[in-house]
Amino acid sequence: MAQPRVLVIGGGLAGLSATMRLAELGASVDLVSLVPVKRSHSVCAQGGINSVNALTRQQGDNEWKHFDDTVYGGDFLQHQPPVKEMADWGPRIVDLMDRLGVPFNRTPEGFRDQRRFGGTLFKRTAFAGATTGQQLLYSLDEQVRRWEVDGKVKKWEFWDFLEPVLDDAGRCRGAICQDLVTMQFRAFPADAVIIATGGCGLLYGRSTMSMVCNGSAVSRAYRAGAWYGNGEFIQVHPTAIPGADKLRLMSESARGEGGRVWVPKTPHDPRDPRDIPEVERSYFLEERYPKYGNLVPRDIATREIFDICTTEGLSVEKDRLCVYLDLTHVPRETLDRKLGGILEIYEKFQGVDPRVVPMKIFPAVHYSMGGLWVDYEKSSTGGLVEGSPRNQQTNIPGLYAIGECDYQYHGANRLGANSLLSCIFSGLFCAPGVIAGVDAGGKKAADESSRLFESGLRREEERHQALLARTAGDENPYDLHQQLGNLMTRVATVVRRNEQLVAAYAEVCSLEERWRRCAVSDSGNWTNQNVVFTKSLGDMFPLAKLVLKGALQRDECRGAHYKPDFAMPGLHATDPVEKRREAEQWCDRFEANTRRWLKSTVAKCGVGGEPEISYEDVDTSLMPPRPRLYGLVGGEMIEEVWKERQKLAGVSGDGQEKQPAYAGSAS
Ligand SMILES: Cc1cc2nc3c(=O)[nH]c(=O)nc-3n(C[C@H](O)[C@H](O)[C@H](O)COP(=O)(O)OP(=O)(O)OC[C@H]3O[C@@H](n4cnc5c(N)ncnc54)[C@H](O)[C@@H]3O)c2cc1C
Repeated sequence: MAQPRVLVIGGGLAGLSATMRLAELGASVDLVSLVPVKRSHSVCAQGGINSVNALTRQQGDNEWKHFDDTVYGGDFLQHQPPVKEMADWGPRIVDLMDRLGVPFNRTPEGFRDQRRFGGTLFKRTAFAGATTGQQLLYSLDEQVRRWEVDGKVKKWEFWDFLEPVLDDAGRCRGAICQDLVTMQFRAFPADAVIIATGGCGLLYGRSTMSMVCNGSAVSRAYRAGAWYGNGEFIQVHPTAIPGADKLRLMSESARGEGGRVWVPKTPHDPRDPRDIPEVERSYFLEERYPKYGNLVPRDIATREIFDICTTEGLSVEKDRLCVYLDLTHVPRETLDRKLGGILEIYEKFQGVDPRVVPMKIFPAVHYSMGGLWVDYEKSSTGGLVEGSPRNQQTNIPGLYAIGECDYQYHGANRLGANSLLSCIFSGLFCAPGVIAGVDAGGKKAADESSRLFESGLRREEERHQALLARTAGDENPYDLHQQLGNLMTRVATVVRRNEQLVAAYAEVCSLEERWRRCAVSDSGNWTNQNVVFTKSLGDMFPLAKLVLKGALQRDECRGAHYKPDFAMPGLHATDPVEKRREAEQWCDRFEANTRRWLKSTVAKCGVGGEPEISYEDVDTSLMPPRPRLYGLVGGEMIEEVWKERQKLAGVSGDGQEKQPAYAGSAS
């Protein structure tokens, strides 16, 4: 029987791991990427990759606790079986990458070194200095090259995915792509198509993501009928280096290696930070969350930093919002060995040595928890059925999504260092199912009529020519993009308000209208980046709309989605009886909110590109939702009341206590 032919769009960690595994299983793979795969955004990942390991096991850790931390970190918005499967695979994945040659940092005894990341109390993060993504990506790239030499993989770098090709029954049969050098179009018949095209940070103009993270491929799949899940959940990372051109990440690993966040107690204290005595500093994260300290999850750290600067007026600078991130107490040798890569970035762009002077940082858009909706098949032990064609398949048969561009693993807030794991996991895990799906789908791509591909090619060529012909328009695409980015950053990041979201939606519609009048200054047909950018800008509007509409409709606070109008205030009473009453009320409200809002947003592209929103129940069969307090000072009474309620209901409310026999399957 002919081996299946699979088209993988995207050569980051997700796309490369899927390609490697598919080739191992005998499939032929076409690998399409906007940029050389080694320049995919994954190369920027800094801090590390999570998995339970020998060190944490000695401290009582196991896969179930990794699963628990991930689900608790995501505010219970993710279906639990895929998360459990991913946590179970963690140790195997890190071992695999080690064997493939990733130069993970080592302890003097030769074991993999580990650091702590946000939202956990265990040191689960393996790292290669502060360039972990690069080392992982290069190792997978080597493997893919091996299959390229064997003829199983063909790479198409500098190619743009334009649309999936669907047959009359709605099954994906391939895609239309464009060569970004010659600008020629080409049809790629395939038995299955996997989208692995990463995040959509460019919607926000400036973010920590690479400039290639424009969401175009996902938007095109969405417009072709693929559903989009949890679009409103955008992660704003607490610690980034503000910049006029771009926001650069200061990885969580800085806090994982002991970095402390603080502000002077005197607003805009003009002194050199090194001259400000300890008693005149507020280490506000450590004070409010003594259990997790500087490593509370990102949504919480971001809100606290934002709040201390805006509401409390304690920004370090008067004219610019920022707080100190201080590493100056950590020995220089440790900093160079473990964080060299990121400290160099700070030094290069700020002209200050962070080993000597505390850094100035502020939150920045960083990651999209939402993405293409994908399916899974649950196993009898609570994880996933390996080899099921449903795993990672979108609602379009034969079209899959993996990595940052799917919505599956991180719920309302991603924990640091869990993304590299989810990318590699989803890539490796989906491959056998993709092949099984081809067999189940009957016809092979080679049997498919050329009619489908010809009409796709014609459509894309016409669209392209129409854009090229727009030399007389009065709008500048780069200017429109800046306006879109500023708007999205203002209304759909840390704090969201309904009236602003309504106005922003109308403004996005108007920007989209204006986009139709964009002039393309380069009308040539050779490496025309102008037309490619204009096209991708057009694709940002449907995504921006689904982010805004999803955020508008979700009247609650969950993970990264925070609306002050629906926030649940802490307890104020000092009298114990009154405090207890407040805690009871708080828990009542939490339960009511869970019933109302613990569901995923699913956006479908409706008439005229307007998002039609519906909701999907979340599978919480393994771990019941619980208040997400992270040991907040003042939240003890809520914890107490909640635990009593769970006990009365006969539920183990705290996953840490519940470790079923099937947990920890990886060895
Ligand atoms: C600065 C930074 C540091 C990070 N550090 C960490 C970390 O330490 N640990 C962690 O777990 N996570 C980290 N993350 C998150 C993590 O890096 C990403 O989520 C992950 O790398 C995404 O991988 P991916 O394979 O899904 O996509 P990407 O690596 O973004 O790859 C996308 C691929 O799709 C291709 N593509 C896109 N559009 C098209 C198109 N239209 N046509 C054809 N090809 C297309 C691109 O060329 C590319 O090959 C970090 C993120 C940032 C921004």
